[in-house]
Amino acid sequence: TSSRDNIAHLESNPNFVFMNHDIIEPIHIAEPVHQIYNLACPASPVHYQKNPIRTVKANTVGVINMLGLAREHGARILQASTSEVYGDPEEHPQKETYLGAVNTIGPRACYDEGKRVAETLFFDYKRTHNLDIKVARIFNTYGPRMAFNDGRVVSNFIIAALNGSPIRIDGDGSQTRSFCYVSDNVRGLILLMSANEDVVGPINIGNPDEYTIKQLAQRVIDLTGSSSSIETTGAFREDDPMRRQPDISRAKELIGWEPEVGIDTGLEKTISDFKQRHLV
Ligand code: UDP
Repeated sequence: TSSRDNIAHLESNPNFVFMNHDIIEPIHIAEPVHQIYNLACPASPVHYQKNPIRTVKANTVGVINMLGLAREHGARILQASTSEVYGDPEEHPQKETYLGAVNTIGPRACYDEGKRVAETLFFDYKRTHNLDIKVARIFNTYGPRMAFNDGRVVSNFIIAALNGSPIRIDGDGSQTRSFCYVSDNVRGLILLMSANEDVVGPINIGNPDEYTIKQLAQRVIDLTGSSSSIETTGAFREDDPMRRQPDISRAKELIGWEPEVGIDTGLEKTISDFKQRHLV
C-alpha cells in the first residue's frame, strides 16, 4: 500500500534489488537467501478491509509461500504479526501469553484471524520442519513516509490539522492506542532477527505509552499549532479494540529492546515530513 518513492534513495545502491512480487504467488530465488522479513500485508483497517479475501490469502497462501522459500534456502524467517491477534482485549496491558478475544466473523477478522493462522503456520513449520522462525507482534506504528491515504489515525489527524479541517474521532475518543515510532520498531525487528535460534517469540514490539484517541488529537493540534476543531462521531467502529497497550517485558529481557522515541518527538518528525511532502 506504500509508495515506490519511499525506496527511491535505495534504488541506485548495488546491494539493493526491488522485485515487485505478490506473495500469494509462489516464488523461487536462484541466489542464496539467509533472512526473510515477511512484512507483506496491508496493516491499515481501511486498506485490509478493501479486499478482505485477498488479506486472508496474503496471510495464509502467501505465508505458506514465504515459509516454503525459507525452507528451500534454510533461511531464517521473521513474521510481522500484530497486536490484533489480541482482538478487543480483556487483559490489559497485553502480554504474549494472553490468548486474545477476536470476533471471527467481523470486518476485522480477515486481518486478525489471518495473522493468527500465520502465527500457527510459523510454529507448525518449526515443529514439522525445524524451521528457524521469529514472530514479532507489532503494535500501532507511525512515522515519516506514511501514505497520505493510509487511513490510520496518526496520518489522518496530521493531514486534517495541516489542512485546518476538522479532526474526526470515531466513537467518543476514549479508546486507547500505544504508538511506536518507526525507527524503534525497525530496531526491534532487527534485534529479534539477530537473536539466538531459541528466541522465537512471539514478542510484543510496541511502545507502552498509552493515549486515548482524544489525547492524540489534542497532541497533534498542539504540535501543529492548528486551528482544527475536534469532532466525535459517537459511533465506534465495529469490533474496535477499546484499549491497547503492550507489555514489553519479554522484548526487554530476550532481545534487550525498548522504545527510545517518545510521542512528541515522533509526532514532530512525522509532522515535518508530512509538511515537506505536502508542499511538493
Ligand atoms: N480513528 C479515528 N479517526 C480516524 C482514524 C482512526 O478516530 O480518522 C480511530 C479508530 O476508530 C480507532 C483508532 O483511531 O479507534 C485507531 O485506528 P487506526 O485505524 O489507526 O488503527 P487500529 O489500531 O484500529 O488498527
